[in-house]
Amino acid sequence: MANKSNYNQPVDAAVVPRFGDIPTFMRLPHTRDPANVDIALIGVPWDGGTTNRAGARHGPREIRNQSSMMRKVHHVSRLAPYELAQVADLGDCPVNPIDLMDTLGRVETFYSRVHEAGAVPLSAGGDHLITLPIMRAIAKDRPVGMVHFDAHSDTNDRYFGDNKFTHGTPFRRAVEEGLLDPKRTIQIGIRGSIYYPDDMAFAEESGMRVIYMEDFTEMGPEAVIAEARRVVGDGPTYVSFDVDGLDPVFAPGTGTPEIGGMTTREAQQVVRGLQGLDLVGGDVVEVAPPFDPSGNTALVGATFMFEILCILADAFARRRDA
Ligand code: MN
Ligand code: MN
Repeated sequence: MANKSNYNQPVDAAVVPRFGDIPTFMRLPHTRDPANVDIALIGVPWDGGTTNRAGARHGPREIRNQSSMMRKVHHVSRLAPYELAQVADLGDCPVNPIDLMDTLGRVETFYSRVHEAGAVPLSAGGDHLITLPIMRAIAKDRPVGMVHFDAHSDTNDRYFGDNKFTHGTPFRRAVEEGLLDPKRTIQIGIRGSIYYPDDMAFAEESGMRVIYMEDFTEMGPEAVIAEARRVVGDGPTYVSFDVDGLDPVFAPGTGTPEIGGMTTREAQQVVRGLQGLDLVGGDVVEVAPPFDPSGNTALVGATFMFEILCILADAFARRRDA
C-alpha cells in the first residue's frame, strides 16, 4: 500500500531487512528536535528507583531492537499511526545512573522541552519512577487521569528510612503534587503479597479504582474496559503500562515479577478498548532484559508500545481535526 501521508515512515523491511541497520523505535527516523514531532518515542535508560532486581536501564535499547518487528497498521483496529501523526524516535532522555535526584530533574527538564514543543510522549523505561518526572512535565497545568496496568499500586510512601522516591511510590507523589487525579485513575491487575494489611489504603481512600487481578478474572476484559472508560471519562488521560502487570510467564524479564497476572492477549484487548479516550501520553516500563535472554519481554514491551502508539495517534488526530 502506498503511503498516503508525508509523515515519517518506518524503514521498509522489504528493502532493509528487520535485522539490519541501526535500530530505532519502530524503525522510525531519529531526531533530537521535538519541533514538528506529534508523538515522540523516548527511552529512559534508568533503573535507580528499583527496590529489587535492577536491569530496566537496558530496556530502551532492547525494546528498540525488538520493535523492528512492528509493522505499520494495527491488525484489529486498522489504525495506521504513521498516516495520522508525525512520529519520531527522540533518542534517550539524559539520566545520571549514580544520582536519583539529579535524574528526576533531568527527566523533567527533557520532557518539559518535548511538552512545550507540542509533542505527546510515549516512553520506554526504565523503572516506574520515571513516570513521576514525566508527569511533572506534562501535567503541571492540570492533573491527568491514568489507566495503569501493573501488579503493584506504586502508591507506597517511603522506603529505606525517609526516601520518598522509588518505583514503589510514584503515584502517591503524583497525587500529592497535584499531577494525577486519583478519582480519574484506574489500576488494573494489582496482586501479590503486600507489606502491611493497609498498603492499599492510600490508593483506595484517595479514590483510585483498583481492579485487583481477582476482579479482572471475575469481570473479564470487556467489563474492565467499560470501567476504565467510566473512571477516566473524557478528560486528559495517561496510559502507564508496567510490564509486570502481565504474568511472568509472558514477561519474565522484569525486576519485581508476580505470578497470576494478565495474559498478553487480555492486556492487548484492554489497551485496544481505550481507543477514543483523550490520551495525552503513555509509557511501557520495567522491561529488564538481563532477566530474559530470550528477548521475549522486550518484544512484549515493543508490542505494547505499538498498541499504545496506535490509540495515541488516533487521539492526537481527533484533537487536531476537532
Ligand atoms: Mn509499577
Ligand atoms: Mn509493578
